[in-house]
Amino acid sequence: MPPIKKILVANRGEIALRIMRTAREMGILTVAIFSEADRMSPHVRYADEAVCVGPASSSESYLRGDKIINICKELNADAIHPGYGFLSENADFAKKVKEAGLIFIGPSDTSIAIMGNKLTAKQAAGKYNIPMVPGTSSAITDRLEAKTIAASIGYPILIKASAGGGGKGMRIVNRDTEFDEQMDRAVSEAISSFGDGSVFIEKYITSPKHIEIQVLGDHYGNIIHLFERECSIQRRHQKVIEEAPSISVTPEIREAMGKCAIDVARSCDYYGAGTVEFIMDESRNFYFLEMNTRLQVEHPVTEQITGVDLVKQMILIAEGNPLSISQDNLIIKGHAIEARVYAEDAANDFLPDVGTLQTYNRPQGNGVRVDDGFEQGMDIPIYYDPMIAKLITYGENRDEAINKMVRAIDEYQISGVETTLPFCRFVMQHKAFVSGEFDTNFVNKYFSAENLKREQKPSSEMLAALITAHLATSLKPVETPINDSVSANISKWRTRRFNNN
Ligand code: ADP
Repeated sequence: MPPIKKILVANRGEIALRIMRTAREMGILTVAIFSEADRMSPHVRYADEAVCVGPASSSESYLRGDKIINICKELNADAIHPGYGFLSENADFAKKVKEAGLIFIGPSDTSIAIMGNKLTAKQAAGKYNIPMVPGTSSAITDRLEAKTIAASIGYPILIKASAGGGGKGMRIVNRDTEFDEQMDRAVSEAISSFGDGSVFIEKYITSPKHIEIQVLGDHYGNIIHLFERECSIQRRHQKVIEEAPSISVTPEIREAMGKCAIDVARSCDYYGAGTVEFIMDESRNFYFLEMNTRLQVEHPVTEQITGVDLVKQMILIAEGNPLSISQDNLIIKGHAIEARVYAEDAANDFLPDVGTLQTYNRPQGNGVRVDDGFEQGMDIPIYYDPMIAKLITYGENRDEAINKMVRAIDEYQISGVETTLPFCRFVMQHKAFVSGEFDTNFVNKYFSAENLKREQKPSSEMLAALITAHLATSLKPVETPINDSVSANISKWRTRRFNNN
């Protein structure tokens, strides 16, 4: 395959920029596509060329594979990078890209199809000795039989959509009397979200950690792993904070999990960058969950601890180069944490928030990386995922990465929309997180709007109240400047905040 000269990035926001930056470093030209809602976006200005692909709604723009392929041909781009979301795990699109004589920077359409369905993924991985969560290995067709299986596995169980993704179509069943109701809900959610109502059963692991392994494979059967990422801090079964390495993974577990991940990749002849997800129980037994056949949102933490640019590797692999990194040459250096900055109100059940970024100032300094796709004054559109940025910190060890994250969050100034930053700060200072004794139930167990309020920085209303209170109690002309008095109150308040956990 010849070297790639021009890449069309079939995505938007931070990930489009992230990919274009590496392409530019490699001397490769870039084409941005954008919807009418994203006309002013930084990814559009950053690219060498940009083409409007349609109206705001994803189905009329970022999901229009046919239009995207045509743009590629018209502009003589030779490859498409799909990023994550949108068309990244669409086997049909990957196939059409190839048929159009273009390079899809990702795995083969066959690998995508196998791993895109949780059941066929399990069947493929079953060829190797990969530990699986106990459950059914095919879609449920007979409810009575399914109930018998559920009883034999033992409640609680989880009903999952085979085509599932993004935590959707998943239902916990605690006892057999709930089975039918939860089954109906799971099926209807699966149909409405994925157009495929097939569901299966898995044992519900009650205190699990979500641990995943990054893999890279080339076209010649070489596959390596780049260690694990811990992604257990989730809301609605979706990740908010990720880190690498995991505090709960020993060198022995890492080696065993890494080997399993490579086998899963091998089971579908994988090439490109991929992620094999596992769930780990309290006794540190781990089980295969699924494989994501694309670049993952949280890939930067792996880049930080390994020094490997994953996008560069994806491009080199797509060009047909053999892997230049060997497993023996990889080591973990330091610790990295990523906080996803979503336009969401954590105090209000993480409800998405829309609005204008009235203030937007990024944190800076040693060990701080911000991958974002917004600027001050821009609107957060309602049409897409409400992620504003990814804040990544890197330190010599976990404590240092945590301290840098708290510092960076305090420097991050965002107004106009609610964000998950206060939640992320709450997590960083919680003793369960700091000690590593947490699982995917962290939010349910420890987090509430009240707890967050106690932790939060003073709002403008609070500052106003402090000033009013100060003025009201000052009978004499003010001797100390009001500002000093306010900051004294704030600093008391801050001290209390630090002692809360
Ligand atoms: P999706 O593809 O929708 O993201 P996953 O299978 O990757 O679904 O699971 C998402 C999250 O749901 C996991 O990170 C974990 O928190 C939870 N989960 C999935 N399977 C189980 C299980 N068997 N037991 C407990 N929690 C689970």
